[in-house]
Amino acid sequence: MFLSLCYVSSNGSASSRKLNKRLKETAETVVIGGGCVGTSIAYHLAKAGMKDVVLLEKSELTAGSTWHAAGLTTYYNPGINAKNLHYYSIKLFEQLEEETGQQIGFHTPGSIRLLGTPERMDEARYQMQRQGWNKAPQWLISAEEVLEKFPLLNPNKILGGLYNPGEGHIDPYSLTQAYAIGARKYGADIYMPAPVTSLVPRSDGGWDVETEHGTIAAKRIVNAAGIWGQEVGRMVGIEHPLIPVHHQYVVTATIPEVAALKEEVPVIRDLEGSYYCRQERSGLLFGPYEKSHMMRLQEDWVTDGVPKGFGKELYESDLDRIQEHTEHAMEMIPVLAKADIQSVVSGPIIYSPDLLPLLGPFQGLRNYWAAVGFSYGIIHSGGAGKFLSDWILNGEPPYDLIEMDPNRYGKWTTQEYTAIKARESYGNNNLLGYPKEDRLGGRPTERTSGVYEKLRRRGAEYGFHSGWEQPHWFALEGDEAGYKPSYRRTNWHMPVGREYEMVMKTAGIMDLTPFAKYDIKGKDTVAFLDNLVANKLPKVGYGAVCHMLTPRGRVYAEITLTRIAEDHFFCITGSGSELHDLRWIEEHAVNGQYDVSITNCTDEMGALTIAGPSSRDILAQLTDEDVSHEAFPFMTMRQMSIAGVLCRAIRISYTGELGWEFYHKRGDTEKLYDGLISAGEPYGIGDFGVYAMNVMRIEKGFRMWGQEMLTDNNPIEAGLSMFIKMKKKSDFIGKDSIRRIKEEGVKRKLVLLKVDTDNIDPEGNETIRVGDKVVGNTTSGCFSYNLNQSVAYAYLPLDLTDLGTKVKVELLGNHYDGTVIKEPMLLTEPMREKIKRQAEAAN
Ligand SMILES: Cc1cc2nc3c(=O)[nH]c(=O)nc-3n(C[C@H](O)[C@H](O)[C@H](O)COP(=O)(O)OP(=O)(O)OC[C@H]3O[C@@H](n4cnc5c(N)ncnc54)[C@H](O)[C@@H]3O)c2cc1C
Repeated sequence: MFLSLCYVSSNGSASSRKLNKRLKETAETVVIGGGCVGTSIAYHLAKAGMKDVVLLEKSELTAGSTWHAAGLTTYYNPGINAKNLHYYSIKLFEQLEEETGQQIGFHTPGSIRLLGTPERMDEARYQMQRQGWNKAPQWLISAEEVLEKFPLLNPNKILGGLYNPGEGHIDPYSLTQAYAIGARKYGADIYMPAPVTSLVPRSDGGWDVETEHGTIAAKRIVNAAGIWGQEVGRMVGIEHPLIPVHHQYVVTATIPEVAALKEEVPVIRDLEGSYYCRQERSGLLFGPYEKSHMMRLQEDWVTDGVPKGFGKELYESDLDRIQEHTEHAMEMIPVLAKADIQSVVSGPIIYSPDLLPLLGPFQGLRNYWAAVGFSYGIIHSGGAGKFLSDWILNGEPPYDLIEMDPNRYGKWTTQEYTAIKARESYGNNNLLGYPKEDRLGGRPTERTSGVYEKLRRRGAEYGFHSGWEQPHWFALEGDEAGYKPSYRRTNWHMPVGREYEMVMKTAGIMDLTPFAKYDIKGKDTVAFLDNLVANKLPKVGYGAVCHMLTPRGRVYAEITLTRIAEDHFFCITGSGSELHDLRWIEEHAVNGQYDVSITNCTDEMGALTIAGPSSRDILAQLTDEDVSHEAFPFMTMRQMSIAGVLCRAIRISYTGELGWEFYHKRGDTEKLYDGLISAGEPYGIGDFGVYAMNVMRIEKGFRMWGQEMLTDNNPIEAGLSMFIKMKKKSDFIGKDSIRRIKEEGVKRKLVLLKVDTDNIDPEGNETIRVGDKVVGNTTSGCFSYNLNQSVAYAYLPLDLTDLGTKVKVELLGNHYDGTVIKEPMLLTEPMREKIKRQAEAAN
């Protein structure tokens, strides 16, 4: 199966080999795995002052994916916060040699993404608008400039390039050694060969880390075991969704034209040919991403484990699989055609379904941290080490990396799903990346609600939400159905407007089953929740929107708490944060030793919502209860039967219109849906989806977790002050920090902008400028069907937050006028009704 090129450690099992020194008995942190990721974590923890950091490596450092990696280092990342990780790594590489004395072979010739089609030019401009407010520079260059920087390219095949100065490549083996030297220098102990054989939870919340040389009692463990990450995960009883992928690259012998170059050429990425190419001494190194149907997964390593003894070995190479890419490359870089092959490397890269690592603490396990699933581990290693070390030491992440949260996966992430997605992610590595991208591999997922089929027949265009299928919009007769991504407005623009109008004028129904739901009960529930959230807890029968803040006063999550009984709360949060929020809640319950029980009932409960001015009349037909405003005010909850289905009915709506959410047994969703639809038909009720909901929430001034609310923001700058009750008795988490933030005053604020675009809408993450200066970024955006134009939320410095202030918002290379406008743009229905009642009372 694999070709043994260079077997490192001598024969025999680790037990027959002597450990480099006597094993410690206790440790603050044990890092498992001495690849680039594990050594970076040990280095960062030790450097930050943690005593007793231990790294256990089963054979020798780098003996996994690291030793043979191509070593490419990029600033570029299409994601939002992952850019921070890349930036930190490169800045660290720039000084690591000096700090550790270890040469790391860091080359920074820059890199160019080659753009060969008009769509690629759009994609590059789309990336530019998202990069502009970040630290690393990136700009578009002409075809002539591309050729100037890389003269060996075929001039007929290029329209331009996306250029990133400072990118390049590094020697992964030496980088890992440098981390290890640094880790030791700051006091960490590295043991090898020391395979971890089992992990046993201790009653104090720590772990007994068992090796063939003895046991270490560790306060916490970090799984950084690369392609063995799943096996180490199984030692603690979990299945990380990971699968090894065969990745190949070819190194050529000397090419005279390359040898004759005056300086090293930039790394190029040919997006159409789907490969990277960099200079390797006086030759070239060429690495393709094979198409989904050609590539190879090593599925038996998931089921049976990595073969014993595999370490510094490679897979057998297969040049036929990369033939198509090779032909592309030879057309693009003609000198390749006459180059001799010096070596071919085919090694295992571990893939998660979405290609991103699993980095952070894990829900359901105490003091277990994941640092696995790195498909670009060399460039991620520095940033990941720093991120994890900061989080471990400070009790909260230094910035938000929710896209890498290990808790974004759950029980629904089967091995089959992981394999399909890994195939898709690898094969589509260089496919055009669109706004609101929805990849279709592994769909529909296993998580579907009781009305999935019914809604599909009614035109639902489903999107992926944390393993759930949830309607984004509905294609009715005459609409162009299907997923038609575009950098501009596309086929869902008009239908979403129709759904919007329906909800605003009559009523709409939407499936909210993917919302995460927990029941929190027990003797200490009130004390516990009062400490956990910044808002006042609601009275029995009432609900409240609450925020869980971090000790630094950042927004960790937004939840809705509804009080069912004195010591029983029903907690609702978004689908994307199910295990993210649950982990935080559980951790604080355990740390505070509260006597509470927390049950995740997400999969057992369905949820439907109706919203719009007719929703009360519709509801009244399905229940004997009084649903008038007086009997059923805003933010109250009743347990009632609706259309014969027992529900927790909450008068709340993320649309900001009159509306209810109905939580019920999952098996009853269709019955409830049918009841609501037949009662609503005379009023013109219809389905609406996530996209219309998003427009309505933006128009009403509701923030969204992951967009406006992150651990990158405090609630004061996010405009959430009304939910932060400084006068409540409890010293809730983050209270001291909020006090300080208020005293010092915020430096920036969230504002609403109207943006004068044409056929394009902001979506968030766009760069905002005044003149040439970057002043901020958007967080969300949409077409407002109320204003009949684009709007966006944006963080701007205080001096740019006055109404009427003008800025420029970058979209596809254009700089559109943005104006700060009053928010909310539309009052919510409860607010409109309140004002009406007050006026009536005054007359
Ligand atoms: C051909 C190829 C080219 C690549 N090119 C690039 C690139 O250009 N840029 C980039 O960023 N990435 C690249 N990668 C990916 C990169 O190599 C990996 O993402 C990275 O090396 C992962 O590092 P790691 O530390 O997570 O895992 P690994 O390097 O696999 O290290 C894991 C370590 O854990 C140890 N271990 C496992 N189980 C145990 C146990 N029970 N007890 C103790 N120790 C244990 C192993 O021995 C191993 O040393 C490439 C990969 C391949 C295959």
